[in-house]
Amino acid sequence: MTVIAPGGRIGILGDGQLGRMMALAAAEMGYFVHIFGPEKDSPAAQVSHQSTVARYDNKRALKSFAKSVDVVTLEFENIPTDALEYLSQFVPVRPGRKMLEITQDRLLEKSFVNNLGIGTAPFTNVENIDDLVQAVQKIGTPAVLKTRRLGYDGKGQVKITQGSQIDEAWAAVGESHCILEGFVKFKMEISVIVARSTNGKMQAYIPVENRHKNHILDMTLAPANIPPDMASDAMEMAEKIAKKIQLIGLLAVEMFVTHDGEILVNELAPRPHNSGHWTIEACATSQFHQIIRAVCSLPLGNANRHSNATMKNLIGDDIDAWAKIIKNPDNNLHLYGKSEAREGRKMGHVTKLFPLGDKSPA
Ligand code: AMP
Repeated sequence: MTVIAPGGRIGILGDGQLGRMMALAAAEMGYFVHIFGPEKDSPAAQVSHQSTVARYDNKRALKSFAKSVDVVTLEFENIPTDALEYLSQFVPVRPGRKMLEITQDRLLEKSFVNNLGIGTAPFTNVENIDDLVQAVQKIGTPAVLKTRRLGYDGKGQVKITQGSQIDEAWAAVGESHCILEGFVKFKMEISVIVARSTNGKMQAYIPVENRHKNHILDMTLAPANIPPDMASDAMEMAEKIAKKIQLIGLLAVEMFVTHDGEILVNELAPRPHNSGHWTIEACATSQFHQIIRAVCSLPLGNANRHSNATMKNLIGDDIDAWAKIIKNPDNNLHLYGKSEAREGRKMGHVTKLFPLGDKSPA
């Protein structure tokens, strides 16, 4: 595969904080970044060489974007697959359409994972209210009804604790195509991020623990406090998925660890992930440098960590505490350049390093 050498141009679909941190890494490596996204003065555009503000279905804008770059990657998986198909006539798109088709749809995603012999929560397809009634009988309660497409940070999902809530739940998800999933009483949520390059070589980061508040990631602890065997199993699962899905780029695999020590895959994200921000300070190669290497056909960097770490998200008005946070010289403060601190909006994060040791920094 042709190497895209430093000095080359990288197009990124999506204009949020992940695009911003990808663009910063790319710039450090000597690349020029062109951001394509709907928002003006976006976090990613603020730090990039060029930006196009347009919708993902604007063919004219997509074409001139494609022609201005050597490769296209993304920071957001809900890009219409038609846009990827269109762009790929002009320029390599990594990851490509197949990957997005699977990861945009919870039914396809979970079926794909199960077909590899990897466990998930039990789930069933729901297309109408009758399906939902049957699904609740089959899966039991508690269960979670999730829209097949376009869900994130707990949006598009509702918990069903008893049969009488079926009508309400169906209305809450907007009567759209869904899956019903068994509710997992997990011990811990973990994730593994794996990079795969154009030559098929892979590098996985160690599993980390993710703690959520109001369905939004609050804190990541690296490494997760799990036995070494379980950590290698989780990394192998992520590598197996990345290989079978023919990933080029990064894949984050979110998983539940059950009280019986089983690992169940919850969700895949084909891009850098919030649970990988700690790698900026704590690893030889950060997730953001790694994705640039992968999509430019460069050799992957070493994903090993030299420190343990915690990463705390700053959500909404948490950002008001920036002056206090920065007073502690051990806090690495990252802010995303968003002017308005709306509720639930990721405004920045703080990473703290700890010496390597056997224990998680919990
Ligand atoms: P998701 O959008 O699927 O990543 O779900 C967001 C969060 O909701 C997860 O990180 C879990 O904390 C919780 N959650 C989702 N699905 C389940 C499930 N089947 N059982 C228990 N908790 C879940």
